[in-house]
Order: sequence, then C-alpha cells, then structure tokens
Amino acid sequence: MLKYGHFIKLGIKSMLDLFLPIEKLKNVGARNLPRLNKLGIKTLKDLLRHFPVRYEDYSRVVPITDVQAREKVNIQGEVMKIVTKRLFPKRMSVTQALIQDESGAMNAVWFNQPYIANSLREGTFVSLAGKANLDKHGLYLSSPTYEKIDELDFGIKKTNLTHTGGLIPVYPETEGITSKYLRFLIKPILNDLAVSDPLPEQLVQKYELPSLQEALLKIHYPLNLDEANMAKERLAFDDLLMFQLKALLERRKMNQLKSVSVRFDQELIQNFVANLPFGLTKDQKIAAWEILKDLQKKYPMNRLLEGDVGSGKTVVALTGAIQVAKAGYQSVFMAPTEVLAQQHYTTISSLISSRIRVVLLTSSTEEKTKVKKAIADGEADIIIGTHAIIQKDVRFKNLAFVIIDEQHRFGVSQRAALAKNSGSDLVPHLLSMTATPIPRTLALTIYGDLDISIIKEKPKDRQKIITKVISPTKRKSAYQFIRDEVSSGRQIFVICPRIEMSDPKSEVRTGNRQSKMNLLWAEAKAVQEEYKKLSEDIFPDLKVGMLHGKMKPKEKNEIMAKFKDGNISILVSTSVVEVGVDIPNATIMMIENAERFGLAQLHQFRGRVGRGEYQSHCLLLSSTADTTINKRLKALTECDDGFELAEKDMLIRGPGEFFGVKQSGLPDLAMASLANVELIKKARLEAS
Ligand code: ADP
Ligand code: MG
Repeated sequence: MLKYGHFIKLGIKSMLDLFLPIEKLKNVGARNLPRLNKLGIKTLKDLLRHFPVRYEDYSRVVPITDVQAREKVNIQGEVMKIVTKRLFPKRMSVTQALIQDESGAMNAVWFNQPYIANSLREGTFVSLAGKANLDKHGLYLSSPTYEKIDELDFGIKKTNLTHTGGLIPVYPETEGITSKYLRFLIKPILNDLAVSDPLPEQLVQKYELPSLQEALLKIHYPLNLDEANMAKERLAFDDLLMFQLKALLERRKMNQLKSVSVRFDQELIQNFVANLPFGLTKDQKIAAWEILKDLQKKYPMNRLLEGDVGSGKTVVALTGAIQVAKAGYQSVFMAPTEVLAQQHYTTISSLISSRIRVVLLTSSTEEKTKVKKAIADGEADIIIGTHAIIQKDVRFKNLAFVIIDEQHRFGVSQRAALAKNSGSDLVPHLLSMTATPIPRTLALTIYGDLDISIIKEKPKDRQKIITKVISPTKRKSAYQFIRDEVSSGRQIFVICPRIEMSDPKSEVRTGNRQSKMNLLWAEAKAVQEEYKKLSEDIFPDLKVGMLHGKMKPKEKNEIMAKFKDGNISILVSTSVVEVGVDIPNATIMMIENAERFGLAQLHQFRGRVGRGEYQSHCLLLSSTADTTINKRLKALTECDDGFELAEKDMLIRGPGEFFGVKQSGLPDLAMASLANVELIKKARLEAS
C-alpha cells in the first residue's frame, strides 16, 4: 500500500511527529495499544488516516423545550443538579442530571457510570448528544454523550465540539475501542495539525480540490455532508493518483527487463487457425494478435486477457504458446484446480499438432519424475498444470511464456516464482486470463501496470440459456423438471449455498488461515447435507454425486471424470465448479440460495451449462421474499452480458465487495470511489 508519509510534512505550527508511535500518546495505555494496532493504527499518521464510516448529525442545537421524543438531539445547558443512586439488589447505579437552558430543563440519565457525577458537577456547562426518551416523568436523554463547554451563549451554536455538536464522526471500531475514544485521540491532533500539500497548486486549482490540510480536517469534522464528500474525494484522488503512478513506474521497470523475443511466424499461425474445428471470432483474433505482438518484444509481456465464460480464451492463449514452441521455447499453462488442468490438457492436446509436446503436471500426476525430466530436458513444449508446477524441483530448459488461467491476482508473483527456474536470466512473458469481466476504466485502474485484451463477442453458435428465479413454493416442480431432463439423458449441476463468514471484513484483512479452513469444512458439510437429501429423499433412483473443497484432488478428479462420462447425472457441488469446467451434456445449473452470491459469480455458474447442442436452463433458487434481492436476481434472467452484469453487480454491492479489497491493494477510500469514473479518469490523466 502507498504511504502518505512522504507528504505529510511538519509545519511550523506544529511540532507533532506524525510517525510518533501511538503508545507515546498519553491517552493510549497498555490495554488499548494492542486494540488500536488491531485496527491498523500504529502511528499518529495512522490515526489521522482512520477515517469515519459515517457521521451522527448533531448539527442542530435544540432548545430544551423543543426536544421531541425519539429524536436524536444536541442540547447545551448548565448542570443544575446531579445525583447517583445505587440500586443494591442488582449492583447497578443510576446517575441523573438536571440540565437547564434558557428555554427549559430536562433530565439526562446514565447507568453504571457513577464517575460522571464527579465530572459534571453542579454549575458545569455541558453539551449533550443523545436520544430523547419519554417515560411517565416526562422527556429525558438516555445515556447521552457529553462534553464540558466553557461558557454558554444560548442560541449561538457551539462549534468545534468533539463528541456532541455538528457532524460527529463514527469510526470503524473494535472491541474496547469506541468512536468516542477515537474522537478523544484524534480531535486534539487535528487542532494542532499543519501539513503541506504534495499536490501541485495548479492541480488543486484545476480540479477545485480542498487542500490536504483542509481535507484531513473536514473528513473527521465536516460542517455538513458536502464538505465531507469533498474531503473524501480529495483524499481518494491522492490515493488513485499514487496508485496510477506506481503502476506506471512498475511498467517502466518491466520494460527495462529482458525477455526472449519470439518471432512471429505467419504461416504457422495461419495453419493453426485454419485447422481449428471452428473459426475464431473477431475479438479472439484481435486478442491473439496483441499477444503475438507482445511476444516479439525484447521485454516481458504483462497482459491480462479478459473475457466472459465461454468466450474462448484458451485457444487465444494457445496461439501464443504454439508460436513459442515453434521458436524452440517452453510455455507454462497454469490452472487453479486439477479438474481444470486436466481439461485444458485434453482440449489443448486435441487442438494442436502432434509435433508440439504437451505434458500435464499436477500433484496427482503419476510418473512425476518422468514428467519433470521431460521439462528439464526440453522434451516438453507446453507444460499444463496446477501449483505443482511451482516447485523447487521443477526446472525448465528454457521457459519463455507463462499463462495463468483464472487467477489473475496472483499472476505476477507466480511468474516471479517460475522465473527462478526458467533456465535463464530472461523474464518469461506473462499472460493472465480472467472470466470476471471488469469494466475497462476500472480494469485500467486496478491493473494499471498491465496491458489489457478484452473478448466481448461470444462464438456465434452459442445458445441462450433460459434463466429463472424459483421461489420456495416452486421447488417441487423444479425437481420434476430435473427428473425429466435426466430421463432424456441430460446432466445437472446443483450448487450449494455459499457459507457466510462470521466477519468477512476481518477475514479479508487478516487472511485468517484457520477461518478459511473452517469455511471449507462448513461448505463440505453443506454439500454433504444437500447430497444426502437429494440422493436419499428426492432422487433415490438417480445417480447423484458430490464435489467439495475438502476432498482430495484424486477424489475430485474421479468424480469429475464420472460426471464427464455420464456415470453421475446430478452433481452436487460447492463453487469448485465455478471456473472453466466443460460438460457439454449438462443442461441445468441449479443454484441454492442464489441470493447469497454476487451477480458476476452467478453468471459464471451459469456459464457452466449451454456448452453443448441442447437447450439449457439456469434455476436460481431464492429463499427470500425480499423483493429488492429478487429484483437483483431478475437482472440475470434478462441479461447475459457479463460486462453489463459486472457493472450492475458493482453498483449494487460496491466496488470493495466486488473486487475484494485486499486483492486490489487500493486503500479503502479509493476503493469506495471506484464507481466514480470521472475521478479515475482525472487521476489517470495526471499520473501519465
Ligand atoms: P473460456 O473463455 O471460458 O475459458 P474456453 O476457452 O474454455 O472458454 O472455450 C469454451 C469452448 O468454446 C471450448 O470448447 C472451445 O473449444 C470453444 N470455442 C472457442 N472459440 C470458439 C469459436 N470461435 N467458435 C466456437 N467455439 C469456440
Ligand atoms: Mg477458461
């Protein structure tokens, strides 16, 4: 992540050291330090960059006589009387204060905070913010936030309050760290803040941005939401700009590295294309051409190939690989799962001439030693496999091209790992492929260091998949429909609901291994239950199989093979099948609790059917009566363009959820602003 530190310079006004560890603050004790660290707060700067998630609106000081029941209000007045009563049987205490302003008086009540009576003595002026409740004695404020104020000008709004007036920041919290405590730490720093602005004056003016100083002040304590939004936009602009600059520098660095320049052999490619069992689409041709051009360069290709499921990315990548093989170099084709690797191996072997030698290397490959030897000796031209290819003992003779399927996020690090054993100092070319369609502007931001090829067009002969949202009452007829399809010889996928993590955000942040394991177990359990139900109760006479992430690779392969051969009619599975599996005879994709998945992911599932000659269906089982959710699902019934769905999905779920915050490497604020295409464009323009 990008650091702000270079930019926050200390002005004369302040002697605050923004790199000061927070434990040096007098209000941070041994108990709170680890908690603050948990929120990612280690220095003063981190504290300043801990932005509010929202604001409580206490911008109106309400005269006490105007307070209405159930309203959230800020009142300011004098403490006329304060007493604490102990309720002995329950070991509780109640502190009650009578507050008076020019218009009238009302009570404020706190439970189990007897110390308040010491702090708010009679005669103290106080600002209170909280909810007004009504009981038989009249209106009172229930456990309001309070802060002392110096003098009182009734009717004149007190500004510069920390907890009780204006728009009050509410921060991401964690156990033991409340927003109140954070405000208590942050506000004094803001009061002393003096930062110089790293953005050239001319840019600040051109886009009418607030200064950095102002933005930092206003994001914590805005007078109104407009101010808050302007502050956010300014800070997001900085992050996006830095992100783009970093990507551009990365690109420049890449361009100085050396790779094998693979000569374009027109005859070879023309022959290859002419001998395919189908003609390439225009988009496929363009993408292949871009890849072949990259391969000719003396510096490494860094390209992302984006295309909806079934758009035919494999053959495009293969075009590059055969060119590389012809030039006498090796290519790696890496898939995320064994099932997919196996499938690529089968298709690729069938598409290319026997002069090119293809091998498969996964953890369940028999005769691994033999395969590894073939790789080391240069006997193998195209090496297809899983992670098993990235092992110390897998040495290449001369690896020049790395293709990473469906794992674009890890492409760069995987190439780096492979490059170590590539057989030379040259950096292999990299092509990552993804079926997650991301709108171009966004792709350019998040993958600013990559060149992008997009396949939008689908092969012409593709049939439309009929998609339906099925309510719980229609479940029976859905089962009947499945039964009918199976008796006509077709096959069915049943996807089990996604298991929700207890706290997805912290899982993302910490990448907690333990909870990922738990998740896999939970998913396995869900699949086992669904399998039991379908195989014993609903379809006892049909061949039902199951697939989940806790199975051994060998078991998974066996199940997939059985499904492919038609020995399983109904396959109950987790999202394992999400990527790439090709079963032309499968005609129904049934998804349980479809509302738990994102649109883009559902679209991926749907792409698993409709690959053969038969009319296919996607059945979205929704167990909720919530109309907005079902409307969202309905978008799928009307649209089969992955790019369009991706955009909808992003609008609905927000960019953070859509891309995964961690994967993108973007700070939260910039992430949240990714839907703001204009802002992205500005940042891109200025970065370049
Ligand atoms: P994806 O982009 O999802 O990885 P694949 O590369 O697996 O798609 O291609 C899906 C199927 O479409 C494969 O069986 C492939 O052989 C076939 N295919 C690819 N391109 C074309 C085309 N232009 N016309 C017809 N079929 C094609
Ligand atoms: Mg694919």
